[in-house]
Amino acid sequence: MRTWQARQELVEYGRRLWLRGFVAANDGNLSVRLDGERVLTTPTGVSKGFMAPDDLLVTDLGGARVEGRGRPSSELPMHLEIYRGRPDVRAVVHAHPPVATAFAVAGIPLDQCLLPEMVVSLGAIPIAPYGTPSTEEIPASIRPFVPRCDAVLLANHGAVTWADSLPGAFHRMETLEHTATITHHALALGHPRSLPAAEVEKLQRLRERYGLTGRVLPCQAAGACPALERPEADEAALVERVTRAVLEALRTRG
Ligand SMILES: [Zn+2]
Repeated sequence: MRTWQARQELVEYGRRLWLRGFVAANDGNLSVRLDGERVLTTPTGVSKGFMAPDDLLVTDLGGARVEGRGRPSSELPMHLEIYRGRPDVRAVVHAHPPVATAFAVAGIPLDQCLLPEMVVSLGAIPIAPYGTPSTEEIPASIRPFVPRCDAVLLANHGAVTWADSLPGAFHRMETLEHTATITHHALALGHPRSLPAAEVEKLQRLRERYGLTGRVLPCQAAGACPALERPEADEAALVERVTRAVLEALRTRG
């Protein structure tokens, strides 16, 4: 993709991120891999809703600026960690979508098979341990997840998604927040009902048949969750985890 085209696309998706309420003030950052050595990224201290193509910077894969004014986002090392670990990735989006971030704050991963798109396109979303923003702790916290999936919640912080294109990474963030919203509503209504294991297997076969390229962690339908290696596999366990988290929050609030 030509650099000017990439600049325009990045500005447009920054605007969409802000319009969707996935970032507040100067939160969030986006990047696109231009070629084997260069990354186009957002500057620090700028609202993603009001960027111009010339505001963006080009850096090398070590984070050194090679084009543009100002400083790149302080979370650029997180983006570079993903590019180094995944040669197939062309774009990274980091935001603080409120409902998904609430799950990241509550310590509840989005790992139940509640909706077909969770099995087919998004997969289970793990939570990377908390790291101080803008330090090397964040790249280190996501490192184990980068080869295995295309979206991660950041504990007490937000979410990051990546894909082979900027629209792909943005759509993954949108699906993530939509899934979190539906999961939250379902929890408020009572016991969310997971898809049966046989239906999950059918959806996984569809994924293979359509040759979907994203990397997804299996969600927790009975018998369909070897990658996460967690024993609890049904909605009762999810409800128990949520209840525990709420009680713990109430207790610590005094
Ligand atoms: Zn952030």
